[in-house]
Amino acid sequence: MKTRDRLRIAMQKSGRLTEPALELLTRCGLTFRQSRDKLFCFGEGEPVDLLLVRDDDIPGLIAQGVCDLGIVGRNVLSEFQLTAGCELAPLSELRPLGFGRCRLSIAVPQELDYHGPQQLEGRRIATSYPGLLGEWLRTHAVDAGVVMLAGSVEIAPKLGTADAICDLVQSGGTLVANQLREAEVLLESEAVLAGSLTLPVDERGDMLELLLKRLDGVIQVRESRLLLLQTSRHTLEAVTRLLPGGPQPTLLSVAGQPDQLMLQALCAGEVSWRQLEEIKKAGAREMYVLPVEKMLV
Ligand code: ATP
Ligand code: ZN
Repeated sequence: MKTRDRLRIAMQKSGRLTEPALELLTRCGLTFRQSRDKLFCFGEGEPVDLLLVRDDDIPGLIAQGVCDLGIVGRNVLSEFQLTAGCELAPLSELRPLGFGRCRLSIAVPQELDYHGPQQLEGRRIATSYPGLLGEWLRTHAVDAGVVMLAGSVEIAPKLGTADAICDLVQSGGTLVANQLREAEVLLESEAVLAGSLTLPVDERGDMLELLLKRLDGVIQVRESRLLLLQTSRHTLEAVTRLLPGGPQPTLLSVAGQPDQLMLQALCAGEVSWRQLEEIKKAGAREMYVLPVEKMLV
């Protein structure tokens, strides 16, 4: 069988992760030809194609070698790692991607006065994550029944089929609507780039390395701002002291104005009006805050 020479990424066809994953790949310079209602999207510029599937299938597709990479929730990846058969290739989390944040939590009926894992002893807990829940129960030496449900886990206590649930929580609105409250957080999740532990050592491997570098460039600067300002040499120290965190600023001289300097600083997060006003008071002028799109170091 001929091995693939193009990199293939599995991602969710339609759901919470679809739009942000596509946006991220686009920012990495990847564009795709096929319409999105198809299973397969052919990469136009770079040799990278997409396979659009249900998120639950993504780890399996990577483990079987059908895809090299996948964009999937840590919750789905970790569950797979705990429950997949050992005949499949082990997977690893290559990069956290910073979107699709949620947590896997145990929630109990609001009226229960919860004060620790031991209270779950002998209870039935409904979940779609038997692997992660089982591991947590073992770690906390709790003997509880695990009721496996594929969906609508949150209504199980009301139906009387479980005493508590273990499910994904984002805002907590669904829990409140079902008279439940969060009792334990088992996993902090976000979308991750998953890949096989044994990466290909060929053109695909080279492309993968390039993609990881681009991803790092996009992820690192996503929240960054470039701050530009002018200051005179004698206010430079006061201005520099107020700069939000980041690497050392760059100083440029201003033509025809030997006392003036142009300062350029990469700031790790948002720069607020308050901060700008303080820096201005310290002697800065002509201040600009710019979003950063790409970074290659
Ligand atoms: P599919 O049809 O692909 O199986 P799904 O219903 O399993 O879709 P979504 O609801 O789109 O999947 O969620 C995909 C991922 O988004 C989850 O696995 C999780 O990592 C993340 N996520 C973020 N917030 C939430 C939330 N409030 N509820 C569920 N998942 C969330
Ligand atoms: Zn799913």
